Amino acid sequence: MNSSPWPKVEVLIEGYASQKEKDWYASPSTVLISDNGHKIIVDPGANKNQLLEALQSRDLKTEDIDIVFLTHYHLDHIFNLRLFPQATLCDGEALITDEKMSDCSGKIPGTSIQILSTPGHDNKHWSLLVKTEKGIIAIAGDVFWWQDQEEQEITLPLLLEKRDPFVQSESQSESQSESQSESQSESQSESQSESQSESQSELELRKSRQKLLDLADFIIPGHGKMFPVPN
Ligand SMILES: [Zn+2]
Repeated sequence: MNSSPWPKVEVLIEGYASQKEKDWYASPSTVLISDNGHKIIVDPGANKNQLLEALQSRDLKTEDIDIVFLTHYHLDHIFNLRLFPQATLCDGEALITDEKMSDCSGKIPGTSIQILSTPGHDNKHWSLLVKTEKGIIAIAGDVFWWQDQEEQEITLPLLLEKRDPFVQSESQSESQSESQSESQSESQSESQSESQSESQSELELRKSRQKLLDLADFIIPGHGKMFPVPN
């Protein structure tokens, strides 16, 4: 048990992602939070061996993990769920233990860990804020992420504007709606001019990024290294 009154945050696996031909090789940042007697895994990921080794090196068994939190439902983030069949499972909306489902908005019950809705990368996506001795750490899932070969450029404008290849851009959604353009009604042209250069998902992603940059001192991205929030 964690004897310090502060929650402890440890990155068990630093998230990575690379593409070879059409396949992705990826596992997200898997984080262990120890808080108020709970052992919480955030995003168990897809790399079974690395996760089991990281737990073993801390004298932990998979049964010692009592809560698993998921930032979102992409397969590389959830594949290792099968290693924790006994754990309570939590996303930003609900918590499930066996067949009992309870509300889980705002905080992970029994802990000081705050849950924030951070859509954009996926329309259901959550991040965690943990107040630690060293400052507030955001576990951001794929609100921020990099491919292995990309350099992590940590400036506010670049963090806000970095394109997420999994988020549909406006030019992509425009080409999809082109077929409807013959019957362009007034309301349609209005909504098109409102969105201008950004798609709804891109707009939401940017808002989520801004929210975490405003609230956190450090950010653990879905894939990439933890970084301090620039001033
Ligand atoms: Zn991911």
